[in-house]
Amino acid sequence: MYVKGVGQARAAMLETKGLKVVEDLLTYPPFRYEDRSNVKTIRDLAPGEMATVLAEVRSTKVSGFQRRNLGLFQATFTDRSRGVLAAKWFHGAYLNDVLAPGQKIALFGKIEFDSYSGNLSIMHPEFEILADEEDGDSSLHTGRVVPIYTAVGKVSTRIFRTLLDRILKSIDPIADPLPQRILNQLKLPDLWTALRDLHFPPVDSELRLLNAFRSPAQFRLIFEEFFWLECGLELKRARARLDPGIGFALNDRVRSKILEMLPFKPTGAQKRVLKEIADDMAAPRPMYRLLQGDVGSGKTLVAAEAAIIAIENGFQTAVLAPTEILATQHFFYFKKLFQKLNYVTILLTGSNTQKEKEGLRKLAAAGLAHVICGTHALLEAGVEFKRLGLAIVDEQHRFGVEQRQKLMEKGSHPDVLVMTATPIPRTLALTIYGDLDVSIIDELPPGRKPIITKQVDDSKVEQVYSFLKKQIDLGRQAYVVYPVIEESETQAMKAAQKMHVELSTIVFPSLRVGLLHGKLRTDDKESAMEKFQRGETQILVSTTVIEVGVDVPNATVMVIEQAERFGLAQLHQLRGRVGRGGEQSYCILVTGKMSEAGRERIRTLVDSNDGFYIAEMDMKLRGPGEFFGTRQSGLPAFQIGNILRDADVLEIARNEAAAFVKNPPSEDELRRGVQFIRDHWQRRYGLVLVG
Ligand code: ADP
Ligand code: MG
Repeated sequence: MYVKGVGQARAAMLETKGLKVVEDLLTYPPFRYEDRSNVKTIRDLAPGEMATVLAEVRSTKVSGFQRRNLGLFQATFTDRSRGVLAAKWFHGAYLNDVLAPGQKIALFGKIEFDSYSGNLSIMHPEFEILADEEDGDSSLHTGRVVPIYTAVGKVSTRIFRTLLDRILKSIDPIADPLPQRILNQLKLPDLWTALRDLHFPPVDSELRLLNAFRSPAQFRLIFEEFFWLECGLELKRARARLDPGIGFALNDRVRSKILEMLPFKPTGAQKRVLKEIADDMAAPRPMYRLLQGDVGSGKTLVAAEAAIIAIENGFQTAVLAPTEILATQHFFYFKKLFQKLNYVTILLTGSNTQKEKEGLRKLAAAGLAHVICGTHALLEAGVEFKRLGLAIVDEQHRFGVEQRQKLMEKGSHPDVLVMTATPIPRTLALTIYGDLDVSIIDELPPGRKPIITKQVDDSKVEQVYSFLKKQIDLGRQAYVVYPVIEESETQAMKAAQKMHVELSTIVFPSLRVGLLHGKLRTDDKESAMEKFQRGETQILVSTTVIEVGVDVPNATVMVIEQAERFGLAQLHQLRGRVGRGGEQSYCILVTGKMSEAGRERIRTLVDSNDGFYIAEMDMKLRGPGEFFGTRQSGLPAFQIGNILRDADVLEIARNEAAAFVKNPPSEDELRRGVQFIRDHWQRRYGLVLVG
């Protein structure tokens, strides 16, 4: 549709932010509101009040360092009351190019009395330049609670306001897609009212609520956004439950094999989640379950139990891992556990030779291999299974939904168990992992002592070495890790190589020091890991390739160099490599010069061992989009909802959506809902298709 004021240039700018159609503009929310209802002439102003003044720039002046924008910018204003108002902006030198005498401007801020000049003044006011053509609209921009939008290119907050006013006045009210029953029950305003109030809040609006995104209009729009998403997920879940799946038998043989395999007594949490998994596996429909648990909580052991259920029923189990190291680790772990049971466990990765691959593929296709571990190489077209019954996917947030799908298609509706160590609140997990049911291991194996975490300045690294030496003299082992920043594994590799030489020849000439990094050949990687596992090397110098999965209970010290450069989640994962046995373990964060954010991350880690708390801090520090890697996780980009800020609304929306899908007011209403999701929401779901 054509909107007056949106020419080609503006349309192109808006499109860069995904604002393509009128509907997008209508749901482009102000990020903040200002109460500009108190419009005064300068003569009527009183010190101490918040006010809006419409005035003309009389003079401007910069003092101080203009070039580095350190200057103080001062301006004076007058209006028709002939009063004089002074304004000051520290670090405001840039304003010299923005404000000029003669301009009409709306100023908003706190009025003060400047005893030095005897004038009224205003510090760092919000301001908007009043363009001549828009003078007629000035009632939109002042004299009320005013919305503030994030500018898009040259489309300023002012232009947004004008456009939205035009749109709201010129188009017919949009019919409300939300079911009437829900509107009534939750006392939500209808869509059109909500949209109008979102952009131009009514006179009696509470500014505090608006800025907390909890005005009735905002609540409704956030709710709606979550409601349709959750309905879509609910429908998808419901449909998946209709697929035919494998009903595995849970008989005495299965039970006795599990008992035979178990090296320890499972924790209460492990037992509980195994029951959830086993119930799913026994049901004649595919399992789609997420197994969530902090690092070291014993997810892999539960996965092994699930594998036994499949294998004893005559099916194969595939284990998909994001990195070669982790796939290898799983391979060793499962092989060891399953040796007694005479299962054949194989490993298939990208670095197998063509000939090896052929052999391994034959084993899988002929059904001679029971457990097939691997990286994305498992997903290649040539890989076939005789009877795939269970697909275990580790660290799923690194895989797309697509890849999971690919693996599933290699069997006929196999059961799927996704493991993740990212501890996210349940509702979020249900949203992000969409169609998955969630099991949580919320208990660590017994006898674990909380890891002691310390920060050490890199100038005192000698102390760290002498501590390392003491631990090794006690018979323990240690990791020393270098960060991989962005994609530059090469740089980290160099740092690790250098440290390896230094530690093995200068610092600890009498100790055996191993080296592991991503650029090693696969068998060198394997042998470095095996040597450390067997205790032949006492210190393992490594890049972050060991981040996930490595399991050496005798290792009690994790030294992380340049720790301030790692992300929180990564630090927590790394720390989880120690504290896996009964001995007291330590994590030493060696830091250089720290930014404020870096300091915050280090503090969080020193203070807490709790993965949930750390994940929450991580989300807060980085924002949910980046935290989850939106695209990968299939998490849609919300326009107004924010899963962090609005977790409570998400919870409500989820419950309402479940009730609506399960028990719709009428078949017709359900059909309308499905149609609405198809028409309006599909593109925002990305991979999460609604059928
Ligand atoms: P996760 O995959 O959740 O990080 P793992 O399955 O790798 O955790 O288990 C971490 C460590 O704890 C491993 O050394 C594992 O053998 C051990 N472990 C797992 N379950 C138990 C248990 N119930 N009792 C004692 N140790 C356990
Ligand atoms: Mg693990």
